[in-house]
This record gives sequence, structure tokens and C-alpha cells, in this order.
Amino acid sequence: DRVPVRRALLSVSDKAGIVDFARALSAKGVELVSTGGTSAAIAGAGLAVRDVSDLTGFPEIMDGRVKTLHPSVHGGLLAIRDDEEHRAAMEAHDIRPIDLVVINLYPFEEVRFGGGDYPSTVENIDIGGPAMLRAAAKNHAYVAVVTDPGDYARVLAALNENDGSLTYRLRQELAAKAYARTSAYDAAISQWFAESLDLAQPEWRGFGGRLKEVMRYGENPHQTAGFYVTGDKRPGVANARQVQGKQLSYNNINDTDAAFELVSEFDPAKSAAVAIIKHANPCGVATSADLADAYRRALACDPVSAFGGIIALNRTLDADAAAEMVKIFTEVIIAPDASEEALALIAAKKNLRLLLTGGVADPRAPGLTAKTVAGGLLVQSRDSGVVDDLDLKVVTQRAPSDREMADLRFAFRVAKHVKSNAIVYARDLATVGIGAGQMSRVDSARIAARKAEDAAAQAGGEPLTKGSVVASDAFFPFADGLLSAVEAGATAVIQPGGSMRDDEVIAAADENDIAMVVTGMRHFRH
Ligand code: 5GP
Repeated sequence: DRVPVRRALLSVSDKAGIVDFARALSAKGVELVSTGGTSAAIAGAGLAVRDVSDLTGFPEIMDGRVKTLHPSVHGGLLAIRDDEEHRAAMEAHDIRPIDLVVINLYPFEEVRFGGGDYPSTVENIDIGGPAMLRAAAKNHAYVAVVTDPGDYARVLAALNENDGSLTYRLRQELAAKAYARTSAYDAAISQWFAESLDLAQPEWRGFGGRLKEVMRYGENPHQTAGFYVTGDKRPGVANARQVQGKQLSYNNINDTDAAFELVSEFDPAKSAAVAIIKHANPCGVATSADLADAYRRALACDPVSAFGGIIALNRTLDADAAAEMVKIFTEVIIAPDASEEALALIAAKKNLRLLLTGGVADPRAPGLTAKTVAGGLLVQSRDSGVVDDLDLKVVTQRAPSDREMADLRFAFRVAKHVKSNAIVYARDLATVGIGAGQMSRVDSARIAARKAEDAAAQAGGEPLTKGSVVASDAFFPFADGLLSAVEAGATAVIQPGGSMRDDEVIAAADENDIAMVVTGMRHFRH
């Protein structure tokens, strides 16, 4: 099952490592054939290389759109070496076998996410490269295909080990990788089309990704897991720089994402925002003029749950906030940046992971989210709804005061990031009780109120729900959820509206002198 490598075709857009690889192949007596830019790089290093146009008898034409799309190349890649007819065809047309191809593609994803305009993005759709990758991978019985510069060393080691040959097993693995690459590449192209044409139907095949890392385990230790990245440069967990601490786990990545997406709802130019997350739900969120103050108030919402949590900030981590944060055990901090003093304070906590994103994400940006179901994948556009863009309507006799209104907007922003059924009590731009993930809305309302009582008992004082406002991620199906909020001391409510019993719910609000605002948009999150 070993095939000696006598001739290699090299055509790479990313030229990293290619000259060294070519030199090592050449030293093993492998004949090198290459395309324009790659050939120039290899020849520039003083290596013998044949130009592909020499092989095809055809120049590269149309700005490189057609350079390797020729039977001399594709025949050399696809021929079944021990098939008589194939051999006769090779003989008749002077086609010589190619045993190894080294190809990486035009940087479509980089251009796309780098803000390339329409024509340059289209021009960066590689045609000849994927054709060769697919041809070589199909014919892996004879041909080895390398598309990841990270595999150069591995292929050289295998050649050394096997006396200039590669094993069938390795060729199979490389073929699998080549098809993974071409499918992700085409997926990125179709996703780009869908997004730039604003097609209503999300293109699920666009949901390809590249393996960024293999985790030690998944959600539980008996599960395996990997982290795939789409190439979207959105500031967040996938693109953050980890400054310190050990590798993030599957759950860390999931929770850190929830945390940072939440604080990204708050414009850092207007206020500092801090969110503390446990199991993908916030256990405290606050905004303030000052970061340390926002953290203290976020923590006060549910200090018991915050232990071992994940903290996200929308502003540069400063020394005051860092000094507060290191007081209790935290798994991860994610922030746009950190001051030198803050870095030093965090460095004292060796196990604390710190991620820096370089900025906050645009909550209104388009994108896709996905979850698997048995036998399928559900894909939807991300929830880019923002309360400030909505037409809020007061439906009760009493309108909210300015202070209540500010708290209502704050609470509804937070509710978007709480698992349904979500109930969020807020006061002075901080959450004071959060009820998440219950099967009935009234239970979420009760749990949120009880959390506020617990926090008050710990701090010694009245529950902060007295005089608070409350947000609900979806409408109240009955008046009971609203009445539970009234009982807890809420004075104003924000909710999407649209229940069959809206009238009943509004009447109950009026009876209790509650101000109610409807948003017309719900934020389910499951
Ligand atoms: P070079 O820098 O060597 O001139 O070009 C290398 C790039 O060209 C690689 O990314 C390879 O995938 C791509 N490529 C090779 N042959 C063709 C072709 O016939 N058409 C197009 N559009 N791209 C090709």
C-alpha cells in the first residue's frame, strides 16, 4: 500500500513553510512542478522547479483563473496507475503521474471577513485549487494531498520513515482532510452569498467551521469535544487572546460566550457593564459609570451562585475592578483589554483565565446560530433585536417614570440573555433577582424574587426587589406571573405582549398601580 513519491505539484496561496518543504522534497529526489507565484518562491531559493505551463504546454491565462485546469494536470492526478486503459491514455497524451499535491486555497475567508468588496471577494474564490484537491483526494489510492501547512512536517517524517513512500492510511487521512477543507470552503462561499444578498433562509450548509482545538472533554468527562471556528472576526470567545490560565474547557467556552455576548449589549462609551455567568445564565449584571462599582453590584445580586463563575466586562479591566474580582474564586474573566496594573493583579491568581477580545461585539450584527437535534441541525439568524430599536408602548394607566424606564430597558436587555422562561428584576441599572430556565413563567418570577430575598438575608437588609422593575422575555400567559412580581415589590413591567389574555394581565397591572410597557418583540432563548 506504499506509493513512492516521485513527482509533486505545489500550488499554494499561503506560502508559509513551502520553500523548506520543497527543499526537503527536492533533497529526496522528488521532481517539483509548480504554479506562478509558488514556482517563483521555490526557484528564488535556488531549487529546481518546473513550471506547470511547461507541463501543460499552455500559459496561465485570465489573471490566473485558468492555470492548472488542464488534462496534463488532472490526468496525472486521476489516472489509475495499474489500469491498462488509463495507462494507454497517459501514454497517448504524454501525461505523467503526479504522486503528491500540495495546495492551499485563495484566502476567500480572510478577504470576506476582512471587509473585502464584492468583486475582490468573488475573485478570491479559488477554482483550480479545489479541483486539484478533490481530484487528488479521490485518487488517494495513488496520490497524497496536503492542504494544511501544519502537515508538512508530518508528511516529511512519513517519507523518511518509509523510504520515500507514503502509506495508504496516511493518504486516506490526508484525503479526508482535503474534502473537509473544500466543503468548508464552499460553505463559506455560500454563506457569504446568503448574507450579502440578505436571503431570508439561513444557509445551513454555510455552517462549516475549522477545528481550532480539541478539548480534553466535552460537557461531561466521558464526552469528547472540539472547538470549531467559522472565521467570523466578531470580538468574542473564539477570537480572544488568552493571556493566562490553563486551557478553556467546553463549558468554559460556552459560558464565556454567553457572558461576553451579554455585556456586548451595553455600549462601553455610555457605561461600564459587568455580567457574572454560571451555566450559561447570568447570576448578576450591572452597569455603572465605574467598572469596580458595576462588578460589586453584579455580585450582590447572587453572591452564592457567583462563586466559580465567569465574568465579562465591556470596558478595559482596570486595577480597582481587578482587585475586587480576585477576592473570590472565578474561572474566567473576559474583557476587551486590561491595564498593566490589572494584569499584574490577575497574574497573582495563576488558575484564573484571562481573555482579551480587543473590543465588544455589535449586538445588531447579522450571523447564524445552530443547535443539533437527533438527525439534524437547526440553524437560525442570531437574535440581533435590541430594545432601543423597538417601538415601546405603555399599555397601563400609569406610565413608567424616567428612572423606571431606564431600568426596564436594562432589564429587558438582560432578559434576552437568560434562558427561558426568563424573569429579571432590576433596580438602579443592576439586576436584583433573576429567574431562569423554568417551565412556567410564574415559577421563574418566584425564583427570581426568592433569590433577591436570599441576597438580602445575606447582606442584611430589605430585598432589593422592593421598588424594582421586572422584565419578562415573553408575554405573561396569565396574570399570575405578573401578580407574583407585584408581590415581590416590582412597580413597573416590560414584556413583549401578545397573549390572548393581555387584557387580564393589563387589568391586573392597573389594579396594582403598575406601569407596563410592551415591546412587541420576544427573546426566547432555550
Ligand atoms: P501561485 O501563487 O502559485 O501563482 O498560485 C497558487 C494558488 O493558485 C493556490 O491557491 C491554488 O489553489 C490556486 N490555483 C491553482 N490552479 C488554479 C486554477 O487553475 N485556477 C484558479 N482560479 N486557481 C488556481
